[in-house]
Amino acid sequence: MEGVNETKTALVTGANKGIGFAIARGLGELGYTVAVGARDDVRRDEAVGTLRAAGVDAFGLALDVTSDESVAAAAATVERTAGRLDVLVNNAGIGGRTDGGAQDPTTLDLDVVRTVLDTNVFGVVRVTNAMLPLLRRAESPRIVNMSSDMGSLTRQTGPVLAAYAPSKSMLNSITAQYARSLADTNILVNAGCPGYVATEFTGFNGVRTPGQGAAIAIRLATLPDDGPCGGFFNDEGVVPW
Ligand code: NAP
Repeated sequence: MEGVNETKTALVTGANKGIGFAIARGLGELGYTVAVGARDDVRRDEAVGTLRAAGVDAFGLALDVTSDESVAAAAATVERTAGRLDVLVNNAGIGGRTDGGAQDPTTLDLDVVRTVLDTNVFGVVRVTNAMLPLLRRAESPRIVNMSSDMGSLTRQTGPVLAAYAPSKSMLNSITAQYARSLADTNILVNAGCPGYVATEFTGFNGVRTPGQGAAIAIRLATLPDDGPCGGFFNDEGVVPW
């Protein structure tokens, strides 16, 4: 249709480094205009510069997922620049402090739990709900929540981390609730697990590259209209809750 913007826009939160940066690059290579959501001006500008140099149509979006004001301003910017949002990847996440038994359940520091939930769960809800009006304007909107199999109650993998692991269990649960609430819309919302990836998050100890970790998010962001909704997936298929 004449006058309709055919270029799809994707927002990736925490896109300045690690898996988020790789997701931004991957979606950019598929032809999406990518909003690089990041809270730090310098790191954001640097990432946008690197993406543009690689031929990606990227723009920086100031975004701290723990701030209502920042998230509202980001939504206003996306509305002004793109008019709608086709893809939202909620990738920003933190592990939380672990010193002094802070994430052993027997000595759990509840401030650490609050901090981790504020980013990994409330941040996702904050950003998603601010962007929903823009997503609803897209033809085939997709929401991807970057989770972890550490949040799988069936698998219970990785070290004991009683703030981080439950934050991903709750993120999975919230993803399912969104899927139920949005069931009569064209929005597909799913959770993805990137595997154990070499990023700052893991002290670069992970066995997978950020590009490999990004693959599942890119797949869920580009699902066909008859694709799954309300599931939890990695590269191999369904991850048990
Ligand atoms: P990372 O390298 O530490 O990157 C995390 C990103 O999130 C950074 O861009 C960081 O920005 C951003 N971020 C943190 N708090 C934020 C906030 N309040 N507002 C906006 N951005 C914020 O971690 P990663 O390994 O790429 O992890 C990305 C996602 O994958 C996370 O959700 C993580 O839980 C999940 N995951 C990772 C692994 C793994 O093995 N790496 C495994 C399973 C799941 P700054 O640079 O400003 O800190």
